[in-house]
Amino acid sequence: MDKPLPMWMRDVTRVAVLTGAGISTGSGIPDYRGPDGVWTRDPAAAAAFTLDTYLRDPATRVRFWQTYVDHPAWTAQPNAAHEALARLDRSGVAVRVLTQNIDGLHQRAGLAARKVLELHGTMWTASCTACRTTAPTAEVRTRVAAGEADPRCTACGGVIKLDTVLFGERLNPTVIGHAVAIASAAPLLLAIGSSLLVEPAAQLGQVAVAHGARLVIINRDETPYDQVAAEVIRADITDVVPDIVDQLIGARV
Ligand code: ZN
Repeated sequence: MDKPLPMWMRDVTRVAVLTGAGISTGSGIPDYRGPDGVWTRDPAAAAAFTLDTYLRDPATRVRFWQTYVDHPAWTAQPNAAHEALARLDRSGVAVRVLTQNIDGLHQRAGLAARKVLELHGTMWTASCTACRTTAPTAEVRTRVAAGEADPRCTACGGVIKLDTVLFGERLNPTVIGHAVAIASAAPLLLAIGSSLLVEPAAQLGQVAVAHGARLVIINRDETPYDQVAAEVIRADITDVVPDIVDQLIGARV
């Protein structure tokens, strides 16, 4: 490499990575909250998916399961960016991913589950809101596909919900506490495909910068943190993340 590496790439042994919907659009999963997102264009659809409405209104649950039964995420594959982050971790750099995504693609790409904090939960399991019995969502999808429009808990008859955070629902304080600790201690935070506008991502960016992390933002659109970032990259995530990872690995040898 003829060009000297930027400062933020040197001597990296630990990286915190904050990922949002933009890393998964390359796997065919739509960005619900982005400028062209389903929920941005149709705020009523988002309003319907609040915890309160979901628990109270069977018609909302029917609509929810109809939306999710054929969701593209069930068959989506990790893309080059997910795979690059797993490769970075295997190279000996300690990678911790804080993700806004519920699709499980970081783990599918090979990162250990304990290295991925799912800030908004996961769509791969579903729990009874009454007795907390948890089952793979695949079982619920099978029931929906077989004609149960509003499947209920087989143990107690309670309302079943994906283990994701709905609008109006509190984030898991243990997960958020752990994420804040990682963001505070990270020398480098790569923010990939996140607008850094939605909590808790906005707060995590703030915490990292306040503790002196070098912030590198890879996102299609502007973010509130662009001015304080060490670098802002507006390019295709599936191209640029593998490239950065190769350089970080190369800088270590
Ligand atoms: Zn139950």
